[in-house]
Amino acid sequence: MRRALVAGNWKMHGSRSSAEALATAVASGLGEACAAEVVLLPPFVHVPEVSQRLAGTTIGLGAQNVADAAEGACTGEVSAAMLREFGCLYALVGHSERRLLYGEDDRLVARRARAALDAGLIPVVCLGETLEQREAEQTAQVVLAQLDAVVERLGADGLGGCVLAYEPVWAIGTGRSASPEQAQEVHGLLRDHLRRIDAAVADELRILYGGSVKPDNAGALFAMPDIDGGLVGGASLKADDFLAICRAAG
Ligand code: PEP
Repeated sequence: MRRALVAGNWKMHGSRSSAEALATAVASGLGEACAAEVVLLPPFVHVPEVSQRLAGTTIGLGAQNVADAAEGACTGEVSAAMLREFGCLYALVGHSERRLLYGEDDRLVARRARAALDAGLIPVVCLGETLEQREAEQTAQVVLAQLDAVVERLGADGLGGCVLAYEPVWAIGTGRSASPEQAQEVHGLLRDHLRRIDAAVADELRILYGGSVKPDNAGALFAMPDIDGGLVGGASLKADDFLAICRAAG
């Protein structure tokens, strides 16, 4: 049985004090009734403050990206070991904003995932098609190529140490979520593809859905058999909305 996971991607929002307040509100509002694993992903500079606020709670911490090298001349990057020192357990890799706005390709995403794993962080590998690709009926081809690039670098074993997040680009920040059926179709495709590589890894791997998850659509999305929780952007910035989504996952 896969334990649901809900991760809140705060993106580049907020100040030091608003990050503290949001982490505190989520921590105090979550309670023990929520069976889902909950993780917050603040901007790098807010990681230390949020880490302090989450100490002693069941809420995990992660970062929105991670360097593809362990250390060295990589100006502007933050290594997995640095993140681990501040209590991070997870790091996003390959978010579509990184791919589209900053030109990160499949090979770099796979290297970031490798570096995260090597330092004991769990990579949350994001993949998803653009609207143009969906309309051209290229969704399967695009997401499977993104997945294969990671499998090639990590092997099935390595992938078993990751979480996947299917995030159709057209659904991110648009208020237009994929329907539960549309999302399930892609999640099922990803899992079936992996099953042909390693059935045990495919069955255990958590595949999150991301793209305009809100309190009013979370329950229907998370009820789908291959959707194991959510990667939540905008709604994770409001404690009440995020908590409602966490409860919908477990
Ligand atoms: C995201 O940033 O990964 C995301 C899914 O954003 P939103 O929930 O706002 O669509």
